[in-house]
Amino acid sequence: MKIALIAHDGKKADMVAFVSDFMELFQRKEVTLVATGTTGGYVARTGLEVQKMLSGPLGGDAQIASMVAEREISAVFFFRDPLDKHPHEPDILMLMRICDVHDVPLATNPATARLIFEKLLSE
Ligand code: PGA
Repeated sequence: MKIALIAHDGKKADMVAFVSDFMELFQRKEVTLVATGTTGGYVARTGLEVQKMLSGPLGGDAQIASMVAEREISAVFFFRDPLDKHPHEPDILMLMRICDVHDVPLATNPATARLIFEKLLSE
């Protein structure tokens, strides 16, 4: 199972807390992680292995959208910061649209990510 992780700057601490909580399960269930560049750097510091794509504003969201379209990703955990502006808003909307096109689970906050992940891992 491959999961994509993306967190806007104001949500990177939430992402680190999320992956830290689930670290043991990620390892036990052989979950593969892919992330946008900076988010991936933070996740890697927890000791988890993560495939780092480009940083979001440089095309990382678009790269992950391409993987979703190719059916390589089981779920996208995209912790968005609704209180900040983002130069790559078109890419963000495109990624969310591609998740909907391909009916791939998309969590935009930690509460939803927990629900999706608990369900995925119970299967
Ligand atoms: P980043 O990208 O992980 O490289 O910061 C996230 C984003 O803003 O889409």
